[in-house]
Amino acid sequence: MAVCAAVESAQGYPILGRSGQDDLALDDGWPIFGRRGGQTGVATYPNCPLCDQSTETMRHLLTGCSFSRMVWFEVMSWIRSTSGPPTVEGDFAEWWSLVVRTVPRQLRKGTSSIIMLTAWWIWKHRNAVVFDNARPSVTTLFSDIVAEARQWADAGARGVRLLLP
Ligand SMILES: [Zn+2]
Repeated sequence: MAVCAAVESAQGYPILGRSGQDDLALDDGWPIFGRRGGQTGVATYPNCPLCDQSTETMRHLLTGCSFSRMVWFEVMSWIRSTSGPPTVEGDFAEWWSLVVRTVPRQLRKGTSSIIMLTAWWIWKHRNAVVFDNARPSVTTLFSDIVAEARQWADAGARGVRLLLP
């Protein structure tokens, strides 16, 4: 977990971390997020800080949120995936593995990484809105995701490099 975010695998699930901050891990097929090594678990805000339209649950944030769905749409188009965004309020992990299975073998690792990176950045963006009074912005978030993906590719993430336009 040095300068660049690292992707590892523990207990068969991907883990993403950066210097112990804003960690994302999949446990039993469901993402668990933590901030600065503090509590993990689903978010506790009554209204989703990104769309302000719905109760905030992790499922909403990742698959149901109108804001997040715009971001997924941008990202999936960017990597020229034939899959659309996750089903509204559907199971995120199920969608993730389905998307990965539909791409050619050599692109699977990169596709999986990009999906994980996007989920992680949605969470980071949500934290910036909640804790730093940032304004939700699909454009900003998408360009953050693109920049981070390029950094990963430059740092030697071959799967990601194969996938990037
Ligand atoms: Zn929302």
